[in-house]
Amino acid sequence: MLDTPSALEPEIPTSLSNQHYDLIIVGAGVCGLNALYVATKYLPATARIALIERRDAAAGMWQSTYDYVRLHQPHPMFTVGNMAWDLDQPRQYLARGAEVRDHLQSCLAKLKYKLRLDEFYGHVSDDIEEVASQGGHIVRTNIKPVVGGPAQTLTADRAIYAAGYAISEMQPLECSSDNVISTAPGGLPETLADNPGAPVYVIGGGKTSMDTVMSVMADNGSHQINVINGPGTYFINRNNVFPLGMGRWSSGSLISQSFADLALKFDGTNESELNEYAFHHYGICPTGTPGQSMFGILSEEEGSQIKEGIEEIIPGYLEDVIDTANGPKMIMRDGSRVTVPDGAIFVNCTGCYFHDHPNALDRPCVSRHGRLITITKKDSLHFMTSVAGYFLTHIMFLGKHQSVPLYAIDAEALNKKSRHAYFAADATQIYLNLMLWSRNMPMNVLLNCGLDLDRWFPLPRRAAAALGMLAKSNAHMAHCRASLDKVADVHGVTCRPIC
Ligand SMILES: Cc1cc2nc3c(=O)[nH]c(=O)nc-3n(C[C@H](O)[C@H](O)[C@H](O)COP(=O)(O)OP(=O)(O)OC[C@H]3O[C@@H](n4cnc5c(N)ncnc54)[C@H](O)[C@@H]3O)c2cc1C
Repeated sequence: MLDTPSALEPEIPTSLSNQHYDLIIVGAGVCGLNALYVATKYLPATARIALIERRDAAAGMWQSTYDYVRLHQPHPMFTVGNMAWDLDQPRQYLARGAEVRDHLQSCLAKLKYKLRLDEFYGHVSDDIEEVASQGGHIVRTNIKPVVGGPAQTLTADRAIYAAGYAISEMQPLECSSDNVISTAPGGLPETLADNPGAPVYVIGGGKTSMDTVMSVMADNGSHQINVINGPGTYFINRNNVFPLGMGRWSSGSLISQSFADLALKFDGTNESELNEYAFHHYGICPTGTPGQSMFGILSEEEGSQIKEGIEEIIPGYLEDVIDTANGPKMIMRDGSRVTVPDGAIFVNCTGCYFHDHPNALDRPCVSRHGRLITITKKDSLHFMTSVAGYFLTHIMFLGKHQSVPLYAIDAEALNKKSRHAYFAADATQIYLNLMLWSRNMPMNVLLNCGLDLDRWFPLPRRAAAALGMLAKSNAHMAHCRASLDKVADVHGVTCRPIC
C-alpha cells in the first residue's frame, strides 16, 4: 500500500531553513531511544538530530507509570540498543518503574554526545510528512509547544515517528456511587494509606491488575482483594522462558522457538485452538480464566501468591457502581448486580494499549519515498516497539526498508475484531519478521540487539536455535505469509508486506 498519491503531495518548500536536520525522531520513549541509538551507528558525529517529545523529559511511559510497576523481563533485556544497566542486581531482577526511567535517561545522556542532538521537550509533532523538495524528498513537521505558542517548522533528510503505543496514564473509572472510592494505579498507594482495611476491587485481569494485587497484598495485608475479570488474561510462564541457574542450559524454551512453534501451528483461521494450545504449553493464569494473552509474563511463584491473595474473582465487565437503599451495587454489562461494602476501593486496571489516542497517526510504517518511518500500533512490525525501533532504523539506514517484505499488522484493529486472532497473528508476524531480519541484516546487528529475549540463554543454545530456524526458513516463511494473508482476508484488517 502506498501513502499519499503524488497528485496530492504537499507543496514543495522553496528553501530549507537552518532548522534542517539529518534525522528527526518524534517520541523519546524506549522506541525512539532505540532509533536514536541505531542512528549513532550510521551518522557521522557532525550529524544533526532533532528529538521531539511531548513530555518534559525522556523515557516515555516510564516517566509516569504507577510506582509499583515492574518489568516483565529480566532488566538487562529492556534497554536501548545494547547499553548495559548500571544496577547492582542479579540478572533476573525485574526493575521497578523509576529504575527503568533512570536507565533510559542515562542511556540518552550517553548517546547525546555522539552527535549534535537538539532536544525539544514539551513539543508535539502531529503533522509529520514526506514532502518533495528541489533536492529530492525530505520530511517536514511543524512542532508546537504543549503549553501554547508559535509552531516551528523543522525539515530533515529522514524521520522516525516513534510514538509507539503512546501510552497515557490510566485514569479512575467514572462511577455514580458516592460511597465507594474510584482510583487508578497511580493513586493507589495514597488511597490505601487513607483507607486502611477497605476492601479492594481490581478491575481487569492483565499485568497491571496482577501488579496491583501483589502491591495491595504487600500493604500490610489488611485489605481484602477482589478481581473483576472480564474475559480473563493468561501470561507467558516466566519459569519457562527465563529458567534460572543451570536451567538456562537444559530447560525452558527460547522465546523465538515458542513463537516459531505457535506460528507453524497457526493456519490463519484456527486462532481459538492456538490460544488454547499456547496457554497449555506456555501459559499461566492465576485468575483461572485464560481468555486471551497480551504477551505479559508472570512466574509460577507470582501466580501462586496472587491466587492466594485474591478473595473473590468476579467474572464479567463492570459498567458502573450505584448507590441503592441496600448499599452500593456494581452494575455488570450483562445486567447483573453485585453488592459491595461501603468504602470499597475500585482500581482501574483495564489496560491502555489499545485505547484510542489523538496522536495515533494512521499511515504506513514506511512512507512512499522511504524518508519517513512510522512506528505505532496501526501498522506495527512487532508488539515490542523497542524491537521495531531498533530493527526498522537499521533497515532504513541500510537502505533495505523498501525491499525487505516485512509484515505489518494494524494491531489495534485486529485486536478489536478478535483478541485470539490478534495473538495468533502477532506471534506469526514476529517469527516471520525475525526470519526476514536474520536473512537481511549483517550478523552484528542481530548479535548486538540487547532487546533480544533469547539472550537469556547461553550462546550455544541460541546458535543451535538460529541455525535450525534458518535451515527451514523458506518453508516456514511461506507458511507464515499464507496464514497472515488469510487473517487479512478473514478479518478485513491491514496485515500485509510493507513492500
Ligand atoms: C503498565 C505497563 C507495563 C509495561 N511493562 C513492560 C515490560 O515490562 N516490558 C516490556 O517490554 N514492555 C512493557 N510495556 C510495554 C510498553 O509499552 C513498552 O515497554 C515501552 O515502554 C513503550 O515504549 P514506546 O516508546 O513505544 O511508547 P511510550 O513509552 O509511550 O513513549 C512514546 C513517547 O512518544 C511521545 N509522543 C507520542 N506522540 C508524540 C507526538 N506526536 N509528538 C511528540 N511526542 C510524542 C510520548 O509523549 C511518549 O513519551 C508495559 C506497558 C505498560 C502500560
